[in-house]
Amino acid sequence: MNTADSRRLSRSLENLGFVTAANVEDADVIVLNTCVVRQSAEDKALGRLSSLKSLKQQNPQLVIGLMGCLVGVHGNLALQKRFPWVDVFSAPSDPQPLLDFLTNRQQADRAQSWRMNIDRMLDEEFGVAVPGEQRAVSENLPVVLGCSHACAYCVIPLKRGRERSRDALRIVRDARTFAGQGVSEIVLLGQIVDRYGLDLPGSPRLPQLLSSLSEIPQIKRLRFLTSHPNWMSNELIASVAELPKVMPHIEVPVQAGDDGVLLAMRRGYTNQQYRELVVKLRERIPGVSIATDIIVGFPGETETAFQKTYELLADLRLDVAHLARYSPRPGTYSARELADDVPAEEKMHRFRLLENLQESILKELNQGLLGEVVPVLFEYRVKGRWYGRTPTNRIVFVDSAEDLTGQERQVKITWTGPWSLVGSLEPSL
Ligand code: SAM
Repeated sequence: MNTADSRRLSRSLENLGFVTAANVEDADVIVLNTCVVRQSAEDKALGRLSSLKSLKQQNPQLVIGLMGCLVGVHGNLALQKRFPWVDVFSAPSDPQPLLDFLTNRQQADRAQSWRMNIDRMLDEEFGVAVPGEQRAVSENLPVVLGCSHACAYCVIPLKRGRERSRDALRIVRDARTFAGQGVSEIVLLGQIVDRYGLDLPGSPRLPQLLSSLSEIPQIKRLRFLTSHPNWMSNELIASVAELPKVMPHIEVPVQAGDDGVLLAMRRGYTNQQYRELVVKLRERIPGVSIATDIIVGFPGETETAFQKTYELLADLRLDVAHLARYSPRPGTYSARELADDVPAEEKMHRFRLLENLQESILKELNQGLLGEVVPVLFEYRVKGRWYGRTPTNRIVFVDSAEDLTGQERQVKITWTGPWSLVGSLEPSL
């Protein structure tokens, strides 16, 4: 029976394009088809399994399958624990789990090489001067592509692949090209931008990248987003505080205020830890503005759990809250495993409560700026007025006959609303 199973498996593997390896060290896939009818057969199988460990250590891409009576028909958790270097466990006569594993692996490899091709193309194009192309005053520059964090709700890792940092020299080259094309502000992008460089041995990290980019004379302002509460290092906070060109504005999503919901979202921090981070940011970066993202109606978010989010936002009085109602994205953990159990009207209700709260907070915060003089970097004219932003990323409109494109000017704030400010140019010195 075992011999017949092994033959069947070999034929199926050949159909997938595999050929027999001359010896075990050359194999990409090793399957141990086991018999436990006698103790000696079982001992032999366990001995062989242990000896495969070193092969797996030398080549992590090696696929090891364990099939047959040792696994049994009910699965075998004890074996899985004891032999973590085995990738696939299959019942006797059942090659399917191994075939599925290998097919998925082949698809992932194809997707990965396809992504790498796209990356190479993008990498070439990000900062390249295209004749006749106009650059904006503020340009985005991707520095981390993809994402390897497993937030339960988020489809990005599935769509954009694992996290890849771009080469620092290329980023600086792109930024210099931008600078030569009239760009004054660069916004460095990454899903968890604070992790920049972690995947490239010997690469500079975000603080060093920010200080290299600060040396480009034409670049007046640098920003980066998005941060993750667990990856905002003290060194990064210090660079924001110390590098004059790095703007005091941090985008650090909390997503929810309830610890149970945060755990289910797999965010990796608690309400209290987020609050402490906000206190630290405010202590160390004078005048910092903080933006957050929030999802309402995540599976299992009760009325009480939502209240925690509401209180967090009310207590912290952050400068921006990007609000979203939870929607299950196909393929994500939450879409597969958690019931979307907050009704649509209730999600909308919670969304509106936070929206109203944030609007009243911003009205008050912005009123504090009335009569203040702030440096504004102007970007373009819209409906006859100049559009610019303060260091803390607040939008300011100004009437002026001058061409203010790319100019950083002192502006006195004369009107404030929750979403924007109006001001007048101070005389230049
Ligand atoms: N990388 C960032 C992070 O870690 O939070 C931002 C990623 S995502 C492009 C921007 C925002 O979309 C998230 O912060 C989250 O609030 C929201 N979002 C993501 N998946 C969602 C979903 N399934 N339903 C509702 N909002 C979602």
